[in-house]
Amino acid sequence: MECIFCSVIKNNTPHHEIVWEDDKHLAFLDSNPVTANHTLVIPKKHTADILNLSKEEYGDLMVASREVALKIKQETQCHKVSILVEGLSVPHVHVHLVPLDVGQDLIKFVRKNISQ
Ligand SMILES: [Zn+2]
Repeated sequence: MECIFCSVIKNNTPHHEIVWEDDKHLAFLDSNPVTANHTLVIPKKHTADILNLSKEEYGDLMVASREVALKIKQETQCHKVSILVEGLSVPHVHVHLVPLDVGQDLIKFVRKNISQ
């Protein structure tokens, strides 16, 4: 069975709202958002574990994630954008960018979900 994120890269199936793209990365809205505008940034090359990326690929992913996070912050006027790599759901490297308002704490969301 094909990786769901590789399918999104190929033909956006299942459909996701793509918010940013360059030649090596794709950013789209998370289908199960923690907060509004929760976005995922993925490398177009399939890799299951972020530690399998080369140093250059890892750096490129973080630079792309920073660019998308700045765009989110500018467009949503949120307090901060949390950046998280957890690797627990889809086996294709993805960086979560979660806009947070004052007082919101992403780790509380994560702990709640992990303990369920
Ligand atoms: Zn994949």
